[in-house]
Amino acid sequence: MHDDRELVEARLKRVLDERIRPAVYPASVPLDVAVWHAPGEPVPVAEGLAASPSPIAVGDPWGAPWGTSWFTVAGTVPADWAGRTVEVILDLGFDENMPGFQCEGLVYRPDGTPVKGLNPRNQWVRVGAPVQGGEEVRLHIEAASNPVILDYHPFVPTKLGDKATAGSEPQYRLARMDLAIFDETVWQLVIDLEVLGELMVELPVDGARRWELLRAVERALDAIDLQDVNGTAAAGRAELAGVLATPAAPSAHRISAVGHAHIDSAWLWPLRETVRKVARTTSNMTALLEDEPDFVFVMSQAQQWAWVKEHRPEVWARVVKAVAAGRFVPTGGMWVESDTNMPGSEAMARQFVHGKRFFLDEFGIENDEVWLPDTFGFAAGLPQIIKAAGSKRLLTQKISWSQVNKFPHHTFLWEGIDGTRIFTHFPPVDTYNCSMKGSEIAHAARNFKDKGVARHSLAPTGWGDGGGGTTREMVAKAARLRDLEGSATVTWETPADFFAKAEAEYPNPPVWVGELYLELHRATLTSQAKTKQGNRRSESLLREAELWTATAAVRAGHPYPHEQLDRIWKTVLLHQFHDILPGSSIAWVHREAEKTYAAVAEELNDIIDAAQRALAGNPGSGELVFNAAPHARNGVPAGGASAVTAPALAAELRTRDDGGYVLDDGLLRVEIDGRGLVVSAYDLRAQRETVAPGQAANLLQIHPDFPNMWDAWDVDQFYRNTVTDLVDADEVAPGEEPGSVRVVRSFGASRVTQVLTVKAGRLDIRTEVDWHETEKFLKLAFPLDVHADRYASESQYGHAYRATHTNTSWEAAKFEACNHKFVHVEEPGWGVALVTDSTYGHDVTRTVRALDSGTTTMLRVSLLRAPRFPDPETDQGTHRFSHALVPGAAIGDAIREGWFVNLPERRVPGDAVIAPLVTVDDDAVVVTAVKLADDGSGDVVVRFHESRGGRARARLSTGFAATGVAVTDLLERPLADVAAPELTDGSVAVSLRPFELVTLRFSR
Ligand SMILES: [Zn+2]
Repeated sequence: MHDDRELVEARLKRVLDERIRPAVYPASVPLDVAVWHAPGEPVPVAEGLAASPSPIAVGDPWGAPWGTSWFTVAGTVPADWAGRTVEVILDLGFDENMPGFQCEGLVYRPDGTPVKGLNPRNQWVRVGAPVQGGEEVRLHIEAASNPVILDYHPFVPTKLGDKATAGSEPQYRLARMDLAIFDETVWQLVIDLEVLGELMVELPVDGARRWELLRAVERALDAIDLQDVNGTAAAGRAELAGVLATPAAPSAHRISAVGHAHIDSAWLWPLRETVRKVARTTSNMTALLEDEPDFVFVMSQAQQWAWVKEHRPEVWARVVKAVAAGRFVPTGGMWVESDTNMPGSEAMARQFVHGKRFFLDEFGIENDEVWLPDTFGFAAGLPQIIKAAGSKRLLTQKISWSQVNKFPHHTFLWEGIDGTRIFTHFPPVDTYNCSMKGSEIAHAARNFKDKGVARHSLAPTGWGDGGGGTTREMVAKAARLRDLEGSATVTWETPADFFAKAEAEYPNPPVWVGELYLELHRATLTSQAKTKQGNRRSESLLREAELWTATAAVRAGHPYPHEQLDRIWKTVLLHQFHDILPGSSIAWVHREAEKTYAAVAEELNDIIDAAQRALAGNPGSGELVFNAAPHARNGVPAGGASAVTAPALAAELRTRDDGGYVLDDGLLRVEIDGRGLVVSAYDLRAQRETVAPGQAANLLQIHPDFPNMWDAWDVDQFYRNTVTDLVDADEVAPGEEPGSVRVVRSFGASRVTQVLTVKAGRLDIRTEVDWHETEKFLKLAFPLDVHADRYASESQYGHAYRATHTNTSWEAAKFEACNHKFVHVEEPGWGVALVTDSTYGHDVTRTVRALDSGTTTMLRVSLLRAPRFPDPETDQGTHRFSHALVPGAAIGDAIREGWFVNLPERRVPGDAVIAPLVTVDDDAVVVTAVKLADDGSGDVVVRFHESRGGRARARLSTGFAATGVAVTDLLERPLADVAAPELTDGSVAVSLRPFELVTLRFSR
């Protein structure tokens, strides 16, 4: 037989597009439409409903960027439609390819009850099935004219990303506002033909099934009269019934479809718009659940649930009902789908505490799976945190975005820095926005790497990013794919049911050790520096606030601000969302974030100040130093306060012949040349040089930085091909502070001022940059005379190692990586640390010198970028950074100095001596939180971990009358299967594995 595949396939496409799909709505009449444009920000629903609208016609422009327009549509169902199914079609001017990225709406009845959300893939509202004819229809639409930021030509700089700069030009034209007859048979025929047509082209050409489908499709098309599609659709469907009824092969891949709408808590829209996006999607999904008995929908991010509860109580009632039925399912157990590279130890833990607690409090539900489909890589500290939160499974698909290396498993055990293993699944469908297309289902089955030993994978199904969720079309396709020859099978299931099957069928999955590094979006460690600094500062202040208020509560009966801290934590956690902290949102989001962080800092400083004053005693007679760091500092114990001792002596300042200076504190001698560069940092105790011979540290380097796509997210490796060393100084002079040197440089349109001081054997570098560059990357370089194959950088509750070399493609791909407070590199017996109060990105490379055959380990921290999308003004303005170079640092010194630079001493008038609430007799054991229990019982909660990667046996002593102790999870719930240590005279002996995390709860 001749091969006519292409002919039939092309016929199917044209007939579907031009004749069958249009026949789904065979008759329509226009509705009367009126509109009221809210003058500013969104108004309450009642206000929108009560407004007096003016007439508007289809085809008219509407919608200033970020505006809200309340449409009222009204009409009467024609009498001769009696007995038919009738829907309202509401097209606000949609582009069907951009659900979630353009205008959207939420439809209300006149009494204010929500009906469903409107988006390009969901434009209908059911009037009746069947109608009687003559019904009056009146609906209101709260329409958001969110502008398109990410267009067909992506990554073009735009001023639309902030209401302040977006202008008032209408963004949309009203397209269709009709009452229409809905022909269910034609709609079903469309789904039949889509499913079979999409499956057909995925099948092997030499297999019989492909040809069976082709011939069936051809017979169906023959049976349809194109001048009477509605009258012949049933005959067309009859020709397809046979091929739709043949079951899947016993070995077919099994897909657990999970209804889903990935909703970025902020991204190309501000936070306030996400509140409404969530309301639209949840309205849609509760409506779909009512219509489709097999369908299951999951939603992560407790914050988004809380928004619905607070802002849309009428939608919330529907959600609560669907949750009770077990079909609208909380997942993830985190406050938001956060970044996991940058959040500090406690913040990462609190994502789970607040997320899980919300679902427990509202529904009594605790889920086991962590749901992070879109997060930009996963730090190796995370497995232990997941376990300590009482969860045990992780889902993400993001690693499929890696540029170079294909991850070898889809189902595996992920092992973190402490050895904790978490059962992990990467959906092989490679998307969190599956739409049940044949190509997606076939890709999942083909792509699945664990074939032969495992058969199940998960497919998050529904429009996402900007929300939307699952559609009735997807549900209809899934029904046909339940058991269909040639296809993977598809069943709606909860993540818990999927994981139970996946674990049962795969008792010995492969193991991946260490971070799940995303080989993309590496610049998210640097973009929007002020957002990152706000996060780091907030984390430090929260630690201080909890520590000092707990201390003041126990010692002085000071009120512990439970509700305030709860609210602030949730604000900080929200801003760790995977497009806020990474710096990949529009200008509006980051402008607001800066203000929010300032308010958080002010509030926390007030809390800290009040607690310290409550503790400090008589204010007239001296000054106290409070030390919030987990290690003693200048004679002040960790977590305690004592009188000010003599200040550390300033380093001696000497001049050099070249116009430079020498700073020497007896421990470290730093030579700054006439260019303001550090040409030597000599460790006087170890008698060895830190800086590679012939090279200079504290060197600012600037690179062009225009990635191939995703400007705020990506830095591409070719950025390193071109570099300018900023060696010309405008000024090198003694600084205002004794024993300091000030260096000023101008470059491009920018200017940088640095103050270098040497104290306690450490070189402190304070950098202020007035940054006015475009598409540039600014690095601060330290060429170190250290021979090392690997280096450490801090992660949550410990640190992880990465290679300094690029032997493999996996190592080469990690050309920009994340640190928390320190990066550390060492030879046996001698190391050097670089600590930072706010930067996260860095790179480490190595070269061998011709001069002396020694190895230079080049450590560079990333200071600033200047991408122009999505925020065209990213990082323009003044920024301040603190770094310190610590020659001679062992890993324990790196850890300690990292805490010190992030937790400066506080001085408060007073004369009391404040003993810590908790002391530990081993510096390797780091206390990350001292707080009162969240349940208001007054119990003291202490969280600590072994920080150096070794064993620790320590005694932890309480500075209060402890009456009992329990080992708990992160939610402060006692662990039934872990024996509490014996409490003797207020202290306990603890023995910790490398990086082991422990939470103790002391009753008083
Ligand atoms: Zn996302």
